[in-house]
This record gives sequence, C-alpha cells and structure tokens, in this order.
Amino acid sequence: MSNSCLHCGNSFFGRADKKFCSDQCRATYHYQSQKDHNGIIRRINQILKRNHQILRALNPNGKSRVHKNTLLDKGFKFSYHTNTFTTKNGHIYTFCYDQGYIVWEDDYCTLVERQNYVE
Ligand SMILES: [Zn+2]
Repeated sequence: MSNSCLHCGNSFFGRADKKFCSDQCRATYHYQSQKDHNGIIRRINQILKRNHQILRALNPNGKSRVHKNTLLDKGFKFSYHTNTFTTKNGHIYTFCYDQGYIVWEDDYCTLVERQNYVE
C-alpha cells in the first residue's frame, strides 16, 4: 500500500491510515499548522484591539453618537467583535470587549460602554 506524505508529498509504504513518511514530517506538519492557528488568532486579536481603540477614542465620555463612515474611515472592521448585548427593547449592541455600538437605520451609531447598561 503506497501512501503520500501529508507534509512532503513523498510516497511511502505503510498502513493505510499512516499519513506521514517520517516522525520528522509529522512533527513539522503539526508545528506549522499550530503556528498558522497562532498567527490567525494574533491577527484577529489585533483587529479586535484596534476596533476597541477606535471605539474608545470616539467615545471618551461613555456615550456618543458617530456616523458609521467615521468608524470605517478609521479602519473599524464591523465583522469583528467579542459579544453582543440585547436591551429590554430588543436592540442589539455589539461589543469589542467593554466598548459597544449599535448602528441605526440612518447609519449613525450610538457608542456605549459596558457599565452604562449593566444593572
Ligand atoms: Zn514526508
């Protein structure tokens, strides 16, 4: 039975479920895939931190109102956030850590800080 190594691509003989030609290839493969995960996590953390900085800079007093484009101009990425909060009225605020926002129909956003709604 000839297999092809997941890391180097060389064919080798072994059990059908064997995926690597050597221990070294297996170790390298797992090391690199772990490294990629760490890289992705690091990049996402950077985006979240940046989003948080942008929100905090635009919301120094705990509550403010800005246009969506102001956030976009500063590099805010709306698809990255840490959690959401639904108010009693059913409005859903999106948070990056303790800084939250909601985008209204007129494209203006209300920025809030977590302590503003915690009971
Ligand atoms: Zn190999």
